[in-house]
Amino acid sequence: MYYEGKVYRPWMEADSLLIQTTLGCTHNKCTFCDMFRDKRFRIRKIEDIFADIDEASNAYRHIRSIFLIDGNVLALKTEFLLDILEKITTTIPECSKISLYAGLNDLRRKSVEELTELKKAGLTLAYVGLESGDRVTLERIQKGLTPEQAEEGMAKAKAAGIAVLASIIFGIGGKERSQKHIVATTRLLNIMQPEQLAPMALTIQPGTQLANQIETGAFIQATPLQILEEERYLLKNMTFKTIYWGDHGNNIVSLKGSLPESQELFLQKIELAIANHPVTKQEILLTSPW
Ligand code: SF4
Repeated sequence: MYYEGKVYRPWMEADSLLIQTTLGCTHNKCTFCDMFRDKRFRIRKIEDIFADIDEASNAYRHIRSIFLIDGNVLALKTEFLLDILEKITTTIPECSKISLYAGLNDLRRKSVEELTELKKAGLTLAYVGLESGDRVTLERIQKGLTPEQAEEGMAKAKAAGIAVLASIIFGIGGKERSQKHIVATTRLLNIMQPEQLAPMALTIQPGTQLANQIETGAFIQATPLQILEEERYLLKNMTFKTIYWGDHGNNIVSLKGSLPESQELFLQKIELAIANHPVTKQEILLTSPW
C-alpha cells in the first residue's frame, strides 16, 4: 500500500482501510489547519490506486469499510471517482461502506445526477468541514465557503441520498465572536440537518496562520467556559435527528450518541461541567495538536 506524507482520517474511521486517491487539499488555506501544508494537491494515477485496492484485497480477508483520502476527494472528476468505486465494489464485494473527505463546495459543484451516480456506485458517507455557520467567522478563517454554499451542498447530498457527517469547531469565532458563531452555526445546522455531526473544541496547530494571529493578539481564544456554553447552546437549540460525535479527544466533555434521544442527558452533562469542572477557571483550553 502506498501512502505519501502525513495521513489523516476521522477517528470514526479507525477500522477502515485507507486508500490514498488524492494528495493534499485543493483549498489548503484555512487559517487553523496544517493537515496538508506539506503537499501540493495532486491526483494519483488510476493504475496506482487500483494496484492498492488489489493488494489490500489479497492481504485482508474481510474489508468492511474503506475511507478514501487525502483532503477533498470529492473534488475528483465524477468519472474518475466512479471508476474507483467500481473497482472497489468488484474487487472487495464485502465492503459495505465507502466514505471520503469532501468540501461542501465539492458537493455543490456536482449535479444531483452525478452525486446520485456516485451513491449508486457505492459512496455512502461524505465527511465535510463546516466549522461555522457564521459568515464573518467563515471569512476570517478563510474557509472559502459561505452559509448559502454550505446549505446548497448539503441539499444536493440529501437529494442524492449520500449521508453527510459535518464537523464544527467550538471556539473558532474566538472570544469576541463566540455567541454569534454558535447561534449562526446552530441555525445553519438546523437547516442543513446532517445525518451525523462532529463538534470539536478548537485546537491550535503550531505554525498555522491562526497560531500567528494568537501571538500577535489578532485572535483571542474563547475561554473553556465559553466553549462549554457554545456546546450548551447547540444542544439546547438543535432540532434535527443526528448522530452526535462529541467525543473528540480535545473536547472537555466526551459525548457520543443519537439525538434527540440523548439530547437531554448531554445537556445535563454540559450543565454539570459548567457548574463544577475545574477547566472553567482557566483562560484557555489546553489541547493537543492533531
Ligand atoms: S480544513 Fe479542510 S479545506 Fe481547510 S485547508 Fe484543511 S483540509 Fe483543506
